[in-house]
Amino acid sequence: MDTDTIHPSFAADVVHRAKTTGWDSWLSHVAGAAGCSNPVRLAGDLHTVNEATGQILAARSTATMPDGVIYKACGTRRASLCPTCAKTYQHDAFHLVRSGMIGGKGVPETVTSHPALFVTLTAPAFGPVHTRTLTASGKVRPCRARRDAETCPHGIRLACHTRHGEDAPEIGQPLCLECYDHDAQVVWNIASGELWRRTRINIDRGLSRLAKAHGIDPASVRLRYVKVAEFQRRGAIHFHTLIRLDGRSPIAGDVVIPPPAAIGADDIATIVSEAAVSTHFRTDEHEERPEGWLIRWGAQVDVRQIELGEGELTENHAAGYLAKYATKATEDTNHLSGRLDETTVHFYADPQGDHIARLIAACWDLGRQGGQWIRLRRWAHMLGFGGHFMTKARAWSTTFGALRDARAQWIRCQHEVDTEEADTTVLVNYLRYDGTGWHTAADALMASSAASRAREQRQLAREALHELNTTD
Ligand SMILES: [Zn+2]
Ligand SMILES: [Zn+2]
Ligand SMILES: [Zn+2]
Repeated sequence: MDTDTIHPSFAADVVHRAKTTGWDSWLSHVAGAAGCSNPVRLAGDLHTVNEATGQILAARSTATMPDGVIYKACGTRRASLCPTCAKTYQHDAFHLVRSGMIGGKGVPETVTSHPALFVTLTAPAFGPVHTRTLTASGKVRPCRARRDAETCPHGIRLACHTRHGEDAPEIGQPLCLECYDHDAQVVWNIASGELWRRTRINIDRGLSRLAKAHGIDPASVRLRYVKVAEFQRRGAIHFHTLIRLDGRSPIAGDVVIPPPAAIGADDIATIVSEAAVSTHFRTDEHEERPEGWLIRWGAQVDVRQIELGEGELTENHAAGYLAKYATKATEDTNHLSGRLDETTVHFYADPQGDHIARLIAACWDLGRQGGQWIRLRRWAHMLGFGGHFMTKARAWSTTFGALRDARAQWIRCQHEVDTEEADTTVLVNYLRYDGTGWHTAADALMASSAASRAREQRQLAREALHELNTTD
């Protein structure tokens, strides 16, 4: 919105809101969703029920509330859709990843003694692209320095001596768009989940062999994973994975117990590296390529140990990376669209266009064969990747749902004075979807500024509390 000129209808909406519900009562009504860009509106009845007897203690209808609805935050993980909700998601992701390494939130503190690795698996090359890499001392290397660089069939010399800046638009762009194998890349993206599944099977087999060699029952050890998918600038997916070695008791199931001391982080690192090199498979045939595509990992397999407390890669670094990547989809490739269909695909796909347009065109074109290949059309807006952006073993730590419930419970306690009663009552809501978003630009602006004021106040309160604690 242009801040210099206020649209007359905006002013009218401000006045209308003040005259009808009043800003103060409206803002306190929407407080729970105020920071959200795109809240969900729900209408219906809210019942407070005695848990033991089933007696309805209080009933309220949203019809009596401002706008006749309650507002619920959209809860998206994607920062490009709603910055506030993505922040909440990122915060939750950070804590649930971290507690799997240091304990807390239902995870025993003995987990700090378990070997833990941070593994990055990338896609292979589909043609030379502009890159930005750093030397050990942190200097930017020339992009692609080649004294005797070859010239491609399209007359492009396959070298680049530029030291690209961090946000240089060239990064991830092919040196020659014609030579680049866009088909192979989108097929790799759609097959990456299966490649990971097979790699995991091979890692688990490696662990079984190692356990047996140590005289340990393979059923008494288990690797648990958190995996986040991230798009590289070239539009290929890559995976960041946290791997933790746990012990396993046949009677306790998902309870996290320490692993046998004989197996260390070095052993797991070797098993993971070997599985990353050896795992590969060929896709089914396609009329474009009767022999199918060979699916394997790229040469850059990075396996690092997590050092608790301090070091080059601590639990905070690892949890921070994963939480950051978990709130993005294709944003870094500069492509953003929802699911595509016959009527919208031509806005984005072009076999003669730029890199991203060619990737989307490749998805659409290869998907024409139907069968399993139809998934390439379904996921064309994700450049072929149809998997989850964050997956986590159940026993890694707590869940997003549990963190959300804890927050809802906390908000409820803030509003209910009689907590004794709160323990024995449940809220039973009969709500239907009324719509999405704020009604007017005035509502949206007022809600968002109220939310940022509330954030500032919480920050000030935290700082004051901190000062109090440190001066004592
Ligand atoms: Zn939101
Ligand atoms: Zn370059
Ligand atoms: Zn070329």
